[in-house]
Amino acid sequence: MIEQASRIDKNCTQCGNPCEGWVVQLIKNKRLRWESEWACSRCGNSHDGDWGAAPAIIRDRLLAEHGHYRLLVTNETASNGRILKAFRDGFNVSLQEAKQASEKARTDGYEGTYVEVALVKQLLSLAGVATDMEFSDRELISRMREHGLVALECELPSTIPAPLDAILSVTGGYVTPTVAVPHSAPNLAAEMDRHWLEQATRLGLVSADCRFLLRLSDPGSESRGWIYVRDEVIANLPSRIAAATGRREFIALSQDGRHLCAVSIEDDEDWIVTHEFS
Ligand SMILES: [Zn+2]
Repeated sequence: MIEQASRIDKNCTQCGNPCEGWVVQLIKNKRLRWESEWACSRCGNSHDGDWGAAPAIIRDRLLAEHGHYRLLVTNETASNGRILKAFRDGFNVSLQEAKQASEKARTDGYEGTYVEVALVKQLLSLAGVATDMEFSDRELISRMREHGLVALECELPSTIPAPLDAILSVTGGYVTPTVAVPHSAPNLAAEMDRHWLEQATRLGLVSADCRFLLRLSDPGSESRGWIYVRDEVIANLPSRIAAATGRREFIALSQDGRHLCAVSIEDDEDWIVTHEFS
């Protein structure tokens, strides 16, 4: 079952005694549902729940603890009617609200709790509409920060190559790896961490103040492009990116846009690919 829970502390609605509770959002019979349970030392236990959208206090708690998720419709030819129906069936909202939500799902992405987004994804999949589900940028950025990568708000340097040019220099048919580590290697992750650092150091990729640019490989990276980061750790970058994003591939670029050092996953090897832009 798809569900997400959070602990919440608040005063008992009966007697005002401070008490602990749990809130849960879940999918049951392809419908959205929420439930809450409180244990009050004076009144005993109480619980509550209903179908449909969770009350704001519950939803905000889930978003604060688990982050925003985002849904993107990936097949451009999917019928609008099917997408509208998924939102209306899932959330029981007005046609106008369903229109706004489906427009978002087709463009920047529809954002919600994990359970809300998972439900629409499930309904769309049953209707034959393909989607991607991802962390929202905000969630991704907070996960990166937990792994030492601080996303900077500053403007991108004008000299850097377009993400697509960087991608071609890593995935093009003629590309050869600077280092290749077989997937059978006993310490694949540690080996990749070591090789990436060695190559990045050789290229002078990381600036003296620990800055460089990153292009990740999660579904949202296409619209997001480069992320300007300051790395508070430097070591083990491939492992930290995998831990933060759930994906091992990435492209790192020096802030002057000249040197690139990427991790690419091939059939039976992981590659470190380096490139110099002239
Ligand atoms: Zn009470």
